[in-house]
Amino acid sequence: MKVNQFQPYIGKEEYESIKECFDANWITEGPKAKEFSEKLCKLIGCKYGVFAPNGTLSIYLGLKALGIGPGDEVIVPDFTFIASANAVEMVGATPVFVDIDKDTLHIDLEKCADVVNKNTKAIMPVHIYGTAVNMDSLMKFAQLHKLKVIEDAAQAIGVTWNGTHCGSFGDVGSFSFFADKTITTGEGGFVCTNDETIYKQLLYIRNQGRLNRGSFEHPEIGYNFRMTDIQCAIGLTQLKKLDTIIEKKQTILQIYKNNLHGVNGIKIIEPVGNSNHIPFRVAILFDRKITEIMNYLSNSEIETRTFFYPIHKQPCYISCNCLKNNCSDFPNSTYVYEHGLCMPSYPELKESEIIYVCDKLKESLHMNENELYCFNNNLDPYMQMK
Ligand SMILES: *Cc1c(COP(=O)(O)O)cnc(C)c1O
Repeated sequence: MKVNQFQPYIGKEEYESIKECFDANWITEGPKAKEFSEKLCKLIGCKYGVFAPNGTLSIYLGLKALGIGPGDEVIVPDFTFIASANAVEMVGATPVFVDIDKDTLHIDLEKCADVVNKNTKAIMPVHIYGTAVNMDSLMKFAQLHKLKVIEDAAQAIGVTWNGTHCGSFGDVGSFSFFADKTITTGEGGFVCTNDETIYKQLLYIRNQGRLNRGSFEHPEIGYNFRMTDIQCAIGLTQLKKLDTIIEKKQTILQIYKNNLHGVNGIKIIEPVGNSNHIPFRVAILFDRKITEIMNYLSNSEIETRTFFYPIHKQPCYISCNCLKNNCSDFPNSTYVYEHGLCMPSYPELKESEIIYVCDKLKESLHMNENELYCFNNNLDPYMQMK
């Protein structure tokens, strides 16, 4: 049996919806985009929203609309997909990394206080693995230090804190529709805000420096961040399936929990506090380093992924000045990277496959040192990341 890490949940319905764009002879951003963005705003509980070609560019667009640029610092968790940091770098600002809390995997606000200085302009909570950051504390912290808030909600469609949707707390919220996110359009991103002035900035930046298309007068310098109606047609179909996708993801997590019940040395990541859970992955922390477990599962044709590699250790950031304020230590992001594994979890994963994965996982935990060395140690963590 071969078990993949992830497969997008797309089918005939998405395929049919694309046909409508061809029938209407409208493939660029148009009626489908309008409908998709209205439905997203309603779901998220935001007044305004615009698309971007992907989630990385939607963070970039959000930061740019907030006026963040060279000389500014933005606090970013050390444990996230690297795009969170790269988008800050892309607007010319400096990402300043802060360690996470080991139980929530979210940014540690106490450590954030240590890095705030006169250049700090914003903080970027990342709602990791389908769990919400404690937005009560985060917004309080941001208000205290007069920081803008840009939420990276790429993994958090449907995820709420205290019943309020992630991405709607901050000045801007960013979403991704990459193939492995909860709903997908292949590639795609969305930025939302409740502030009309920020919304206008978003429009100027994404629409070649004007508010509306169809005129060639450009009050500002802007760019092209459009998505196509073909993608938005897929997105609308995915939105119709969202409840089903959520139910399937939650069922999968429950099957994992039932089959791993009572197993020593593992902890399945679950939200803390007032967050709901739409499992982006089934993420497990082990009491030992994961290299051998990962190898064993890989030899059983089970595709796992490591947790995110701490950004402060990334070769591309190691020599930047992002660490100047907090160069000492990131024990928690380092710990969870070394001890965490994401198990296969996608809507169409079968119960029999999950049971197989759990059986192999239990086998891997009972192996002794000698047995472990029978397996190829050909694992390169750099190759396992996205
Ligand atoms: C996927 C992801 C992004 C980037 O989105 P893309 O659409 O792949 O550019 C950013 N942040 C997080 C946390 C993500 O998971």
